Amino acid sequence: EAQIMKKLGKQKDVSVFTPEDPEPIVYGNVPLAHRPVVMGFGPAGMLAAFYLAREGYRPIVFERGQDVDTRSQDVETFWKEGVFKPESNVQFGEGGAGTFSDGKLTTRVTHPRLHEISKYFVEFGAPEEILYKHKPHVGTDKLRTMVKAMRERIIEWGGEVRFGAKITDLFIENDHIVGVEVNDNERIDTTVVLSGVGHSARDTYEMLHKRNVEMTAKPFAIGVRIEHDQAVIDESQYGVEPSSLGLGAAEYSLVYHDKETGRTAYSFCMCPGGQVVASASENGGVVVNGMSLYARDSGVANSAIVVNVGPDDFGNHPLDGVAFQREWERKAYELGGSNF
Ligand SMILES: Cc1cc2nc3c(=O)[nH]c(=O)nc-3n(C[C@H](O)[C@H](O)[C@H](O)COP(=O)(O)OP(=O)(O)OC[C@H]3O[C@@H](n4cnc5c(N)ncnc54)[C@H](O)[C@@H]3O)c2cc1C
Repeated sequence: EAQIMKKLGKQKDVSVFTPEDPEPIVYGNVPLAHRPVVMGFGPAGMLAAFYLAREGYRPIVFERGQDVDTRSQDVETFWKEGVFKPESNVQFGEGGAGTFSDGKLTTRVTHPRLHEISKYFVEFGAPEEILYKHKPHVGTDKLRTMVKAMRERIIEWGGEVRFGAKITDLFIENDHIVGVEVNDNERIDTTVVLSGVGHSARDTYEMLHKRNVEMTAKPFAIGVRIEHDQAVIDESQYGVEPSSLGLGAAEYSLVYHDKETGRTAYSFCMCPGGQVVASASENGGVVVNGMSLYARDSGVANSAIVVNVGPDDFGNHPLDGVAFQREWERKAYELGGSNF
């Protein structure tokens, strides 16, 4: 670093990176009568549980899907044989929806704790380069090890993680949560529930809505995934083999604004050297996404091409967007021969 700064330090765009100090944790002063509950073990639930456990709160995590090893087998069987498991799939299970992914560490927020979190990721098996790369990515192979290591640390710190455990209801008294129901038959008393149920837990949204949890319809994007030969993308971006420049498989992004309709179509979550994967979480519907290994060496590039849709397209009720998604997923399923 010192040598680089000697050489380049006078340039105005070059400076030493000093991570911000994460803000101090604020503790409550009323002891909790019960352990806090975390609903879902995707990135949101994992980090919530991780920090609660680190600070001594002994959270209990309920994850409807399976641990990452069992889940990986279920997903492989789905991809190879079309046998679909509604509670153990690409969306549901340890690590959440991103476990089978490109592992692009994308976050749309700047938060003082990000550097600290990245350092934990390295401790749990991510490549060290994620600490300095502009567009860090981990790959699904390394992610699967990382999520397991994080779970083990949460347990070591006094937390508990239960798989195959879906929160099916909330118990509310005088507008306060007093407990959760697990798998329709077990009651766990708690006054704190952190929800990290992700994008696809449609039955859980219905339950939360029924229990008057405040919800708002929000815009999202819908589209298709396209694939190309990676060599075509490399050639068009670099003109030469990326490895001759010390680079990996090339990326691209695409934006088109249609003046007539006012809509914008754009590429999203471009996956260099990866593959398109079937990602359904519901029977009778097709959803696809992209994933890659750390090496990004499949020879194929893929990308989602999407348009934004909002309440004007599907309605203002909080669950209208879900009905809209379901309608298009079912159409895709029928078009594909009504089997996976
Ligand atoms: C194939 C694929 C590739 C992707 N690639 C990338 C990428 O490269 N980079 C990127 O930044 N993002 C990527 N994403 C998006 C990313 O995965 C999500 O943004 C992220 O997982 C959201 O985190 P989350 O914790 O909010 O929810 P989720 O990851 O969806 O986790 C929610 C968890 O809650 C569980 N759950 C739901 N309901 C209940 C319940 N009632 N009780 C108990 N458990 C419940 C689910 O089983 C799930 O495990 C990808 C997604 C997919 C599907």
